[in-house]
Amino acid sequence: MDQKEKTKEKPEAFRAQKGMHDMLPADEPYWEKIETAARSLARAYNFGSIETPIMEDAALYNKTSGEESDVVEKEMYTLRTKGGDVLALRPEYTPGICRAYIEHGMSRLAQPQRLFYVGPVFRHDRPQLGRYRQFTQIGYEILGGQNDAIYDAEIITIIANLLAELKIKNPILKINSIGDRVCRPNYKRQLQNYYRNYEKELCEDCVRRLKTNPLKLLDCKQPQCQPFKEKAPNFLDKLCSVCKAHFRATLEYLEEVGISYEVDPRLVRGLDYYNRTVFEFFADGKEEEIGALGGGGRYDYLMEMIGGHATPALGGALGVERIIAVMQAKGIVPPARSPKKVFLAHAGALAKKNAFSLREELRKSGICVTEALARESLGAQLKVADKEGIGLALILGQKEIYEHSVILRDLGAGTQESVLVAKVVDEIKKRLKA
Ligand code: AMP
Repeated sequence: MDQKEKTKEKPEAFRAQKGMHDMLPADEPYWEKIETAARSLARAYNFGSIETPIMEDAALYNKTSGEESDVVEKEMYTLRTKGGDVLALRPEYTPGICRAYIEHGMSRLAQPQRLFYVGPVFRHDRPQLGRYRQFTQIGYEILGGQNDAIYDAEIITIIANLLAELKIKNPILKINSIGDRVCRPNYKRQLQNYYRNYEKELCEDCVRRLKTNPLKLLDCKQPQCQPFKEKAPNFLDKLCSVCKAHFRATLEYLEEVGISYEVDPRLVRGLDYYNRTVFEFFADGKEEEIGALGGGGRYDYLMEMIGGHATPALGGALGVERIIAVMQAKGIVPPARSPKKVFLAHAGALAKKNAFSLREELRKSGICVTEALARESLGAQLKVADKEGIGLALILGQKEIYEHSVILRDLGAGTQESVLVAKVVDEIKKRLKA
């Protein structure tokens, strides 16, 4: 080796992108518990699964979430394809699902359509506690049918049930109504009149949004804007009679099933397409810092924004990573669901070959087998069994091959016995059960 090659520096190791992370086998019990519970609720409430492409036309989000929403304005990952199309990695599911509802003529099916999803979303946010650039959302959407508060309550109830199923006790549900096309313009004007008095003290975004979308000011997180939120006019006092009745009915349905809530007149959520009910769920105690575990609302005008008919619709989404963080902080450990395993070892080249086919037999019989067959020494193989914490080993040597038998060794007790291959499946199953 020449000197030059010797001194060549080791290439720098790659790391996951900032705000993006790996899901490792150690996290699997959490993911499995959350997804299984979410899916089984979806089935119980008659939701069908939907999966939309990770990328959509960027205009889909500009038109719906709003050009000025943080999600679109600052956080959307967009790219220009070689063909010149501008695509976006989905920052949320709802617009894509509405696009699919229209594209596939789902309004011709029984209404409302209940749709469930789970998958990754992308937001180029500033990474911090509970805030990632790629994270996983679980969501439930109810599209079409009547504009009835019973559906608002249904979505909220499902999310409350999911958190209860995951043993996240006493979540805080904040809820509000942000009116509709009838009452909102009037409220917006009142908000503008109020905020104009403080224009010099507001952050840059708020000054700009005051003209175009004053509701957004209630969603601002900048410290300098907080004091003005407190005294801002209250939307609930300005709702039209229809919105008021809708909100009252939603709360009554929630009371009917024993879900407690806090009406929060400052809750508006960041996206343009919401109307009437908006809500968010938080963990109680210090875990509230992590941010909302889930949120959603009604979006009766979204379908029209993308060329569909006026369609009552609403939904809610939860962030899986935040749920896991809260479960971990609260010491909630889902039971590991991995099956009991047997360790298969060989002693010698011929036995190695036989062990390879024996493993297939065992697998077909539903036995979970782990091994280190590539290692030649029996001792080295059993060390792996020890590392994995496996109590039962199956050892195949030259002698056993001729006798059509295997050795079953209890690795804890250090005892072993010879068992005929024909009987080994029953014997392993008996021992693993014990
Ligand atoms: P949103 O539509 O923004 O309310 O998102 C729904 C849920 O997704 C939130 O309640 C969070 O649980 C989760 N979520 C939103 N943004 C992030 C993020 N940047 N990182 C992790 N989870 C997030």
